[in-house]
Amino acid sequence: MGLQRHNIDPMEIDKFKPLASRWWDPNGELKALHDINPLRVRYIAERTDLTGKRVLDVGCGGGILSEALAARGAEVTGIDMGEAALWAARNHMQRSGLAIDYRRSTAEALSASAAAGFDVVVCFELLEHVPAPASVFDACARLAKPGGDLFFATLNRNLKSYLFAVIGAEYILGLVPRGTHAHRRFIKPSEMAAWGQTGGLRLEDLTGLHFNPLTKKYTLGGNLHVNYLAHFHKTG
Ligand code: SAH
Repeated sequence: MGLQRHNIDPMEIDKFKPLASRWWDPNGELKALHDINPLRVRYIAERTDLTGKRVLDVGCGGGILSEALAARGAEVTGIDMGEAALWAARNHMQRSGLAIDYRRSTAEALSASAAAGFDVVVCFELLEHVPAPASVFDACARLAKPGGDLFFATLNRNLKSYLFAVIGAEYILGLVPRGTHAHRRFIKPSEMAAWGQTGGLRLEDLTGLHFNPLTKKYTLGGNLHVNYLAHFHKTG
């Protein structure tokens, strides 16, 4: 037994603990997630119908993305292993008047009871925080219904992403708290594409996510060198 077997790094969960009360501060430590949220929600909504669909948000944190998906008419389940994050998510949901099913679970554990249970599975900014990301990816693939869509967002692993996402974003620009990311855990798009093939998923799209330090604005498109989003379709 042990947390390792469940594919959790306790340090990664604890990292987000002190942020519990600040998940929803648009100018707090998690500002970057608020800033990119409209872009990533639009990306999902342009590629799949959300209305009335069963959507699973894996590693939902305080619910920034879950709420936006629910506001678009999706029936959302949010899972995370952080108690504090779930507390923040449930607390905020009540104020927003939304009904989201928040649960403390890993994707692997949920896939034992809810395989093929979701039209859409979203897993953003989580894969780079787990010891075995392929295992989470695989569980996401099992959780999606055949004909369903899956969306992932993470960081590419190369020298440029070290300079931009760790040194630049954490130490120079202060876009995310220092220590948020361990470069060795970043994932190459080619690695993710291979997991998709193994899991019976068809890769539909890969898109870069970029920050312009002059305009302080995020945009989608262009190269995949640092942050990127991926869309897969579960065939069959
Ligand atoms: N997906 C959200 C939050 C990303 S932060 C968003 O993009 O807005 C990463 C979250 O993953 C944290 O809330 C952390 O508690 C959670 N987490 C880390 N390891 C996990 C695991 N193995 N299973 C589920 N959640 C995990």
